[in-house]
Amino acid sequence: MTNVEQEYAPALQKALSAAISHLVELDSTPVAATADLHSLRTQLNRQFTDEGFPAERVIQELIEDVKGGIHGSAGGRFFGWVIGGALPAALAADWLTAAWDQNAALYACGPAAAVAEEVVGLWLKEILGLPETASFALVTGCQMAHCTCLAAARHAVLEQRGFDVESEGLWNAPQICIVANQQRHGSVDRALRLLGFGCRSTIDLATNANGQVLLVDLEDRLREVRGAPTIVILQAGDINTGACDPFHELIPIAKKYGAWVHVDGAFGLWATASARFKHLAQGIHTADSWATDGHKWLNVPFDCGYAFVAQANSHQAAMSHRAAYVTFDGQARDQMDWNPEWSRRARGFPTYAALRQLGRFGVARLVERCCDHAASLVNRIAQLPGVQKIYEPTLNQGLLRFSDPRPGLDESHHDQWTDEVIGEIQATGEAFFTGSAWHGRRVMRVSVCNWRTTEEDVLRAVRGVEQILSRKLNARSLV
Ligand SMILES: *Cc1c(COP(=O)(O)O)cnc(C)c1O
Repeated sequence: MTNVEQEYAPALQKALSAAISHLVELDSTPVAATADLHSLRTQLNRQFTDEGFPAERVIQELIEDVKGGIHGSAGGRFFGWVIGGALPAALAADWLTAAWDQNAALYACGPAAAVAEEVVGLWLKEILGLPETASFALVTGCQMAHCTCLAAARHAVLEQRGFDVESEGLWNAPQICIVANQQRHGSVDRALRLLGFGCRSTIDLATNANGQVLLVDLEDRLREVRGAPTIVILQAGDINTGACDPFHELIPIAKKYGAWVHVDGAFGLWATASARFKHLAQGIHTADSWATDGHKWLNVPFDCGYAFVAQANSHQAAMSHRAAYVTFDGQARDQMDWNPEWSRRARGFPTYAALRQLGRFGVARLVERCCDHAASLVNRIAQLPGVQKIYEPTLNQGLLRFSDPRPGLDESHHDQWTDEVIGEIQATGEAFFTGSAWHGRRVMRVSVCNWRTTEEDVLRAVRGVEQILSRKLNARSLV
């Protein structure tokens, strides 16, 4: 081996074999992390030395020190929050991305990285049914996709009033009205805050029982703010129910009032990749901007999100910066013209690999399989004693609630019981679900968006829930 090879090979080979063991053992190890905060701190807070150690030893010790502190979220029995796994090709491409270590700010800094993003943008727009002419940016997640899209929206609605927000800032700008689904994800509020709007400037849109914006409410709110520059924020995929707003009815109303329509489609936008589910997001392609994730349903490793903007010029005006020392390219796509980051990893490669591994049909089958597993999980668990089905999945998300069997209890007892059940299921290591609040009551959320989840994983998770329930119900009846 040459010296340079000796510098890298032992550490990289150790990482490869540990990664493969981890991914294989996910099926036979507890899905939830087992170590507590104190032991992780003790394990990881090793001596920080003056001289350091050889790379191989560092990696060996890292592998040992994180033991018990890694959730099995890359495996098939993790149904908490909304968290995808990592497809083999995407994972391998992610490693190469680190090895190639390109600065994907500009074509000049990483030519292949820039072109891979260009290609990925076209493929994503195609499978998601978005306008071919839309601009795009590959960002860290849906949070930054909101920031990117809403910066473009801010530019456009103020430019229409003859105001240049990139030069003038918001101090003397006409007041922008933000009108948003009241069940929106917190990342929307954070993006608004970062862009100088402030959370309190947002007008909530009332929703129906599933979390979908009501037509009359949108029309009423827009009538009230008529004439003001307005941004309407809708969603594809409520985090609890996966419900999509009725875009085909709402967007024409917003357009009638001259509003910009932004869609939070973190995972729900992927419904459009499936012939079976795309009706749920009918009309979504008529919005002005869309934010979504690659690290959730597409199963690209963290972190990866996508922003799309129908009016490319507004997007570019909001992001682009020309400095004399930077080498912009006349023909290629410079990511910096579209992205909020300056230096950044070449995040096009993992997405490129994921889309190539799956193909169009593979993306559709992934979406459909996850939805089927979500429905199966919810319906099977709902048949167990003391379980209420709160929301049957229409996409990949569903809700369940557990009832304390003692007579005469009020809802707060069932809230507490539900949280206990969720914690005890996690402790079995058989499945991982997380809790949420729905219409003011505690529920267990079921979310499936991992390519690895199989029917066997579903049955095993149901058996895990069954064991906990029978143990808890027996203990109650003995009291
Ligand atoms: C996960 C999620 C987000 C935030 O996405 P990040 O990728 O975590 O930034 C936004 N909206 C919805 C509906 C989500 O599920």
